[in-house]
Amino acid sequence: MHYVSTRGESPAAGFSAALLAGLAPDGGLYVPAAWPRLTAADFDGCTSLAQVAERLIAPFAAGDELAGQLGAIAADAFTFPAPLVPVAGAGYSVLELFHGPTAAFKDFGARFLAACLTRLRAADARPLEILVATSGDTGGAVAAAFHRRPGIRVAVLFPRGLVSPAQAQQLTCWGENVQAFEVRGSFDDCQRLVKAAFVDPVLRAHLDLSSANSINLGRLLPQAAYHAATALAVWRAGGRAPSFVIPSGNLGNALACVWARHVGLPIGDIVLAHNANRAVADHLAGKPWQPRRSIATLASAMDVGAPSNMERLQALFPALPDLQAAVTADVVDDGAIRRRIADDYRAYGAIWCPHTATAAEVMARMPAERRARGPWIIAATAHPAKFREIVEPLIGRDVPVPESLAQLYERPSASTALEPRLDALRAALLPAAAAGEGGA
Ligand SMILES: *Cc1c(COP(=O)(O)O)cnc(C)c1O
Repeated sequence: MHYVSTRGESPAAGFSAALLAGLAPDGGLYVPAAWPRLTAADFDGCTSLAQVAERLIAPFAAGDELAGQLGAIAADAFTFPAPLVPVAGAGYSVLELFHGPTAAFKDFGARFLAACLTRLRAADARPLEILVATSGDTGGAVAAAFHRRPGIRVAVLFPRGLVSPAQAQQLTCWGENVQAFEVRGSFDDCQRLVKAAFVDPVLRAHLDLSSANSINLGRLLPQAAYHAATALAVWRAGGRAPSFVIPSGNLGNALACVWARHVGLPIGDIVLAHNANRAVADHLAGKPWQPRRSIATLASAMDVGAPSNMERLQALFPALPDLQAAVTADVVDDGAIRRRIADDYRAYGAIWCPHTATAAEVMARMPAERRARGPWIIAATAHPAKFREIVEPLIGRDVPVPESLAQLYERPSASTALEPRLDALRAALLPAAAAGEGGA
């Protein structure tokens, strides 16, 4: 299997090369050069998430050096469940994607990528240096997934004072091969610094740099696996293809569901639940595609004005009518998020994080005839305990903290202050002699 860039200006790359590169050299995103075709029967005998993942991803890694290790990689990555839980009285189920180490769905992708990259490092190679800029959730999932992986170091850059206390703890509690840098600047400064590092000749001469951001294929494919496993379980139990409502920002989770359906998994409708960042919804309503600046909302992990995976969605469905047939979208503002959290706790005893609440709101608004074409599933992308300062006042009680998060909160935290300048990053990452080369 080969991967080509959505922008068509890069040479085709194999599975491992695409994982190591993250972004294609022309700035585009890697997509399969040809699509594998699978049916539900191809998954006969696969019951666990790890087994479904191995079977689903096998054709995507065909011919690659990692192909023979996919079983071990999937077993290494999928160490926590993604249970489908009916919401009593609501007429739909919730796919709980928050049982990993940092209690958000990004743990699946980060762990799978870590399991792959670890196996791609030769024992005698210099360490792979993963650089991540984070506004909160991504950095924690990546740090957790790569912690103690041999041959890999992680540098997480986050903006000082601009992440929640829980998020800061998830970024700074690791130590060993994970370094957290508290940047005196904004998230955009962190991102600019990471981008500058990737093209800096001094850093490139001394380090093997890689990124682990959400557009990496190694994060997308495992997300397709839990959609596949869930769809198969529903299909086997009742002979119906479930439909999904997915809280969306950069569209990585939703695109993975689209890819699972595209290769042949029994999946019905796919509905994108957005917060007030409405670029995708407006385009699906017929307006020209227009990326925007992001707007801050309660569902902050979805505050994306220019979703990068739109490029992959458009590569699959270049004509707007085909895109409109493939996915629909709805927009939920902060007022509706608040009301939905309060109402569903009262009605069903369900506790949603603000992101999951956008999907619950989209379900609640859905016309009866569309609902009847279910079964419907909403994706719960994070545990509500991660956002307790928002959720608790709305439901009038404490949110129980899951064991995994409680463990993280007990670890000591450490971070290094960093000025948002390339010379400061060089000095932090390189031995003194190397850092001085080439000036600032
Ligand atoms: C990242 C994130 C999202 C958005 O997912 P995308 O793949 O970027 O669309 C939604 N909810 C939570 C909790 C997240 O961390």
